[in-house]
Amino acid sequence: MTRQAMRYGAVNLAQGFPDFPAPSEIKLAARRAVAGDVNQYAITWGAKNLRNAIARQMGVWQALTVDPETEITVCCGSTEAMISTLLAVSNPGDEVIIFEPFYENYGPDAVLSGARPRFVKLRPPSDNGGEWTFDERELRRAFAKHTKAIIVNTPNNPTGKVFTRVELELIRDLCTEFDVLAITDEIYEHILYDGTEHISMASLAGMRERTVTINGMSKTYSVTGWRVGWAVAPEKITNAIRKVHDFLTVGAPAPLQEAGAAALELSAGYYAKLAERYRSRRDHLMPALTAAGFKCFRPRGAYYVMTDISAFGFKDDVSFARYLVEEIGVATVPGSSFYNDPRDGALQVRFAFCKKPETLDEAARRLARLRRP
Ligand code: PLP
Repeated sequence: MTRQAMRYGAVNLAQGFPDFPAPSEIKLAARRAVAGDVNQYAITWGAKNLRNAIARQMGVWQALTVDPETEITVCCGSTEAMISTLLAVSNPGDEVIIFEPFYENYGPDAVLSGARPRFVKLRPPSDNGGEWTFDERELRRAFAKHTKAIIVNTPNNPTGKVFTRVELELIRDLCTEFDVLAITDEIYEHILYDGTEHISMASLAGMRERTVTINGMSKTYSVTGWRVGWAVAPEKITNAIRKVHDFLTVGAPAPLQEAGAAALELSAGYYAKLAERYRSRRDHLMPALTAAGFKCFRPRGAYYVMTDISAFGFKDDVSFARYLVEEIGVATVPGSSFYNDPRDGALQVRFAFCKKPETLDEAARRLARLRRP
C-alpha cells in the first residue's frame, strides 16, 4: 500500500511509520556514536549500554528484575526478535496460538519456524465505545497437547486493544496449566489512551519463567527504520534465542544501539507527551472517519483505527482500499491482511494515525469526498 500511495500521490495512512521527526536527543546520540567510530560489530546479543538501559527500564516500568548479561538479546527490530524467538523455541508439529486479527508477521513467523498457527478470534465491540474481546472457552479449546506458545500483542495492532489484567491472568492460568510459553509483543507499551494501563505478562505471578517479552525502539522513539529491538527471556530460552539471532543477523546496527541506550534514558515526561500527542492524533482522525461513513472501533492503545466499511457497499476490503488509494487519494491497509481467512476482514480497513496534523487534515479533506450508495 505504501508503494500504491507513492504511485497515486495518496496520503499514506497505511503503513505504521511516523512522518514527523524523531527526538533530537537521540539523533544527537546517533551522530555522536558514528563520529566516535562505533562502526564495528557490537557483541552479538547487544551492546552492554543498551542491555543495561533495557534492564533498568523494565525495572522502572514493570518492576521486573532482568539480568542484562544473561536475559536480553538485542535484535534487528522486534520483527527479528519474534522470528528468532519462534525459531528458538518451536519444533515441527508444535502449535502457536495467535489472536486474530493479528499483526501480519505472526502467522508467517510461526510457519517459518515449523509450527502451526492456531487462531483465536478477537471480536469487535458492537458499539464504538466498547472493547474487542475474546471468548474464554474458545481460547481454552485452542490450548492442546502440542501447544508451544501463545503470542500476545498488547497494546494491539490492528485493533488498539489493551489487554486487561483479568484477561492476562486468564491467559497466564492456561499457560501454566498446559505448560505453554507466552511471547508478548509490547512495542506500543507507551502509546495508551483513556487511562488504560500496560501490563507486562512477565510481571504476573508465575509468568517470569515462561515469558519472552519483545519490545523495540521503532514506535516509542519514532525510528522504525533504525531496526533495533530486543527479546527478554529467562537465561535458558535466551541462550537459544541468541544462537538463532547470531546466525540470522549477527547483530543490530552498533551506533544505533548506543543511541538506543540514550533514548531509554529520556525522562518520564517524554513518554507522557508521546501518549498525549497520539491521543490528540486519534481524536483528530476518528471524527473525520466517522463523518465520512466509517464505523470506527475506538483504539485504547497503539496508533491505528480499525474501521467497518459496510456503509460503502463494496464487495470486499481490497477493492475498497484500491478505490480509496486510486480515486480518493488515501492509502489504508485492507482488513483481510490481518486474518487467516481473508473473508473475516472483508468489511474492515485499518488507518494509521502516526502522522503530522497537516497529514491528517489532508486525509480528512480527501475522505470527505467519499460517497455512500
Ligand atoms: N510488532 C507490531 C505489533 C507492529 O505493529 C510492528 C510494526 O508495525 C512491529 C512489531 C515491527 O516492529 P520493529 O520495527 O521493531 O521490527
